[in-house]
Amino acid sequence: MSDVYFKLVNTPVGKTAAQSLGLPSPAPLKRLKRVDQPFVEGNVLIGAGANARAAAVLGRILGASPAALYHATGVDSLSESAGSGNKARPFDLAGNSDTRFSALVFDASGLQKPEQLRAVYDFFHPSIRKLTANGRVVVIGQDPHTCRKAPQAAAQRALEGFVRAVAKETGKKGSTANLLWIAPNAESQLESSVRFFLSPRSAYVSGQAVRIGKAGDAPATNPVAPLAGKVALVTGASRGIGAAIVQTLARDGASIIGVDLPAALQELKAVTAPLKGKALACDISDTKAPQLIADFIAKESGGVDLVIHNAGITRDKTLGKMPEHFWDTTIAVNLTAGQLIDDELKQRELIRDNGRIVCISSISGIAGNFGQTNYACAKSGVIGYVEAMARQLKNGITINAVAPGFIETDMTAAMPFTVREAGRRMNSLSQGGLPVDVAEAIAWYCNPASAGVNGNIVRVCGQSLLGK
Ligand code: NAD
Repeated sequence: MSDVYFKLVNTPVGKTAAQSLGLPSPAPLKRLKRVDQPFVEGNVLIGAGANARAAAVLGRILGASPAALYHATGVDSLSESAGSGNKARPFDLAGNSDTRFSALVFDASGLQKPEQLRAVYDFFHPSIRKLTANGRVVVIGQDPHTCRKAPQAAAQRALEGFVRAVAKETGKKGSTANLLWIAPNAESQLESSVRFFLSPRSAYVSGQAVRIGKAGDAPATNPVAPLAGKVALVTGASRGIGAAIVQTLARDGASIIGVDLPAALQELKAVTAPLKGKALACDISDTKAPQLIADFIAKESGGVDLVIHNAGITRDKTLGKMPEHFWDTTIAVNLTAGQLIDDELKQRELIRDNGRIVCISSISGIAGNFGQTNYACAKSGVIGYVEAMARQLKNGITINAVAPGFIETDMTAAMPFTVREAGRRMNSLSQGGLPVDVAEAIAWYCNPASAGVNGNIVRVCGQSLLGK
């Protein structure tokens, strides 16, 4: 379903009319054009607060990019990247300059007490006006759960409110702001997340706080095909978000096993065949589904690296009017089926070491939604499952979830007009996301270098006003 309002306000006449009437003016979002394009282009400004821990790692990651690097006062430990010699030039935040930045990155990981938050203001107050449209703000902090002292936890938690507010202020120009909370000594795990959140791949992810923990050394991967050699199972793969996940993971080098309902087999094959993927017709809520899927994997590939529980349904009715089969099928497809499939795959040791499980929650599961007690219940349950499993999985296997907001698919096209329009506009970017936005977040979780990203629920919602 095309967004007619978005198209209209992006014409010269429509833009002027929207501005004079005070209506939202969603900016066109820049998404990835080529897999080999640099993750960040233009100028990047780096700053740091007291005791910053990530500056050297940032210097290495960003130094290898073609972006021109600048640093604010206080950042003197940016390492030269191997080979490029791209060392950041000092930038005078107090001076007048025409220099514009496509990204602002601030390392606040060393802040010990609220008084030190002033460094955040000192960096962003002069630089935020220099952020280009479709710009990126990334703040690095320390996970407050790992802070021993209350003042430190307060300062680190404060970053969340700051970043969410910056995301709201910058969203109207299509820019995003996100926070990466690292555990102590987990700086080396930052790379895949810094790359994702600075790149056009995260165009519809804003106002998020991601926790990054310690993990083994990230393996060297081919940046253009980081999933080469991996096998991905994707449920609900025949259309919408599932089809985009299949295409994105295949683009990144994975071999695909797509699953969908028997009635959707033809559409499923139309998605998987051009990618040389395999198609399995299966209702995942059927009691025999886990065994059927496990048998298929055992026979076709001998194991699986990436398990993406995407299939989902809505059966909306207010609670008093909801028939029991609406309740049962919604819980079964969205919540129970994925867990039973995981149980079977784990029991038969079909999930390979360093595997990735990704579940799809929803902002309905975070905020609740009128007429969706069943769906919100299931999608909230997904969050509980992911958080518990993240503590239990072994052999380098991670589990995370994405919680999409309003994404333009058949599911949202079926909504009544007013609900659909509200869903599109009620976020900081004033527009719906695309299936590829969800798929890109999943590809980031699946990256072999994302081993420290575990137990996260990242919303792909343009910072929807719904929920926390
Ligand atoms: P969609 O309806 O377009 O596609 C869902 C796919 O799952 C379909 O191909 C369908 O045939 C398949 N499916 C349904 N029941 C199945 C079953 N029992 N067994 C096997 N396959 C089954 O939906 P979508 O918008 O692409 O959503 C994908 C996922 O994202 C779902 O989990 C959904 O709940 C979630 N989500 C979507 C949005 C959105 O705005 N579109 C928002 C939040 C969450």
